[in-house]
Amino acid sequence: MKKRRYVIAGNWKMNQTPAETKEFINKFIPMVKDCVNSDIVLCVPFVDIPAAVSAVKDTNIKIGAQNVHFMKNGAYTGEISAQMLVESGVEYVIVGHSERRQYFAETDKTVNLRTKAALDAGLKVILCLGEVLEQRENGITEEVVSMQTKLDLLGVTEEQLKNVIIAYEPVWAIGTGLTATPQQADEACGVIRKVIGELYGQNAADEIIIQYGGSMNDKNAAELLAMENVDGGLIGGASLKPEALAAIVAAAQ
Ligand code: PEP
Repeated sequence: MKKRRYVIAGNWKMNQTPAETKEFINKFIPMVKDCVNSDIVLCVPFVDIPAAVSAVKDTNIKIGAQNVHFMKNGAYTGEISAQMLVESGVEYVIVGHSERRQYFAETDKTVNLRTKAALDAGLKVILCLGEVLEQRENGITEEVVSMQTKLDLLGVTEEQLKNVIIAYEPVWAIGTGLTATPQQADEACGVIRKVIGELYGQNAADEIIIQYGGSMNDKNAAELLAMENVDGGLIGGASLKPEALAAIVAAAQ
């Protein structure tokens, strides 16, 4: 019997306009209105935030962003600060997604800075980490996810950790249709939980929410979510269809 709540979060990536956002959310609200044991989050593109925040008002759905800059303000053309997100009604932010690491030169250093800036502003962080295929094939998944956990959380206090969710996302499973087996997901999430225990103590390890992400869908969600160390999902492709995302929320019930 699990003690932790599930967090089911959709990552829309660079998909959906503001008008489509409103349409999606209006369809989605009745599908998940009776969900009680999960937090439901939609991480939308920056320009969709006003439409999303307005559409989810008085519902059980929360809105997240997909990135945040680590400086408070200044000459950083094209960037968005944590305070801007807070004032826009955003509660969650994804940090360190593998697509940011892969295409936008994010490193554990910048992921750590972004994490701390978001936490300082009062946001909840969905911190993404995970190994690439070559690392899994060489048997170093445990070392890689342990090191990422330590580096990405450097300087994050025990109190701040309560606002951190870790998304274990094996890079080889993101957007590829390949899914980690429930055992592989549980094992890696268990490694992360163990590292949290070493860094912050057993209570923190017992309480932290660790999601699995990587081609989770309405067909495989139940099995993945049933694993002891998997407390939810970060869902890309399948989160673009209200029916599929609602089915994943239902699988967590
Ligand atoms: C993601 O974007 O975090 C993700 C897991 O994508 P997908 O579900 O499409 O693999």
